[in-house]
Amino acid sequence: MEIIFMGTGTSQGVPVIAYNKETQLDLSNSKNWRTRCSAHISFGNFNIQIDAAPEFRLQCLANGIINIDYFILTHGHADHISGMDDLRRFCDLKSDNKIPVYATDEGIERVKNIYPYALNDKPNERGYPCFDLKKMPEILELGNDCRIYSTMQEHGNLESLGLVFEEGNKRLAYYVDCKRLSAKAVELARECDILVLDGLKPTEHASHMSFYEAIECAKLLNAKKSFITHTTMQIDYEIFSKELPENIFLAYDNLRVSV
Ligand SMILES: [Zn+2]
Ligand SMILES: [Zn+2]
Repeated sequence: MEIIFMGTGTSQGVPVIAYNKETQLDLSNSKNWRTRCSAHISFGNFNIQIDAAPEFRLQCLANGIINIDYFILTHGHADHISGMDDLRRFCDLKSDNKIPVYATDEGIERVKNIYPYALNDKPNERGYPCFDLKKMPEILELGNDCRIYSTMQEHGNLESLGLVFEEGNKRLAYYVDCKRLSAKAVELARECDILVLDGLKPTEHASHMSFYEAIECAKLLNAKKSFITHTTMQIDYEIFSKELPENIFLAYDNLRVSV
């Protein structure tokens, strides 16, 4: 089981456009250049894409992504949905030219509004995207002892999907764009192998966990390794890494972690 952190920055990316030159962010460190949040999971013989950031095409090229079996949209915010048109290339490479897309009710409505041309039984024309749009079930059984659990997460005025990937006795939890974890989310991810958490910035925020809330959450769940992602430019990789307890890390673009 492997996760590729394709993008680890917050919704505006890091650094933001026209950033303040007085920032404490060390821009000579490539780990402080963060594209918007997307991740790719390989387990069993399945390749799962979580979200498509505005930089999705560049992220796929940087990480050598050549196949996606299932696409999961955690929620409809622009930083997670904007790159979906570039799924067209993956549709092109498939024999039926379409890709299964799983989302929440809110995500499904957003996809219908933004990509109405991608919702027919086959691509409108060769090279167009074609989505087989479905509601994400609580358990998606893929076969080969691989499954994906989903749980709804509080994320400001909407809910996002929390995802747990299970292959045999290995588990990876991906809980991003959430303010706090539900009892079910905690139960699904307790003592998992890899835990990924939203840890936006040092101070509190209405719809995301802060860096310090993520640390407390990681301690509670006690995964073998935990990673904090979706961070703003207030989080300098070296400075904030020094504050992290053992087995908790900051994620950065193009990081790969296997279990
Ligand atoms: Zn986001
Ligand atoms: Zn969001």
